[in-house]
Amino acid sequence: MRIIFLGAPGTGKGTQALYFSKMYSIPQISTGEILRDAVKKGTELGKKAKSIMDAGDLVPDDIILQLIRDRLSQQDCKNGYILDGFPRTISQAEGLERILKDNAIEAVIYFDIDQNAVVSRLTSRRVCSKCGYNHNLITDPPEADNICRRCGGKVIQRDDDKEETVRNRLQVYEKNTAPLVDYYEKKGNLYKIDANGAIDDVRAEIHNVLKNIRD
Ligand code: AMP
Repeated sequence: MRIIFLGAPGTGKGTQALYFSKMYSIPQISTGEILRDAVKKGTELGKKAKSIMDAGDLVPDDIILQLIRDRLSQQDCKNGYILDGFPRTISQAEGLERILKDNAIEAVIYFDIDQNAVVSRLTSRRVCSKCGYNHNLITDPPEADNICRRCGGKVIQRDDDKEETVRNRLQVYEKNTAPLVDYYEKKGNLYKIDANGAIDDVRAEIHNVLKNIRD
């Protein structure tokens, strides 16, 4: 199963990708997560990416494509994967096609959401620094003292979830990533789901799409 989760930041892609990757035993490949890891470890990639990420801008396509090429060549990707937060530009989508050759993407799940909801979702998001689980201060808060509800790790706010950066990330999304909706619609593998609802409702919609594709 080769799937893309496409949508603006804060639409719940990461949360759903985590769930479905476990369900289908395929990796969730989040370019954002790989980059954050590189920043944490202080690698060359991390040093290049940090200021770009802090501003909410996009890391250059050639760097991202190299990173994806390496990741998809790993053994755990042979039965499929969920791409979460990639591709983010038309040029990345074209690069992905060159990498995959005949192993085309089966489904692009497009998380459609009311943009106004996204700012509050992102600024109230709190992430576990250990397991990556996304909490929300309003709908799904961490335990007291910012302890993760899943694993007991320390829960933090991502630097790029501060309001100013969030607004820039949404503009960057509109300009660079939103055109991918049209791009995949034309290819005929885009499935639009309503991402405004509760986590369980969105999950059920994705279930239906993936079930139909598999049948
Ligand atoms: P995310 O966790 O997907 O919201 O990504 C966090 C940040 O990492 C983004 O705001 C970008 O700066 C960078 N990033 C993640 N994925 C990509 C990508 N596919 N292309 C360019 N930049 C990316």
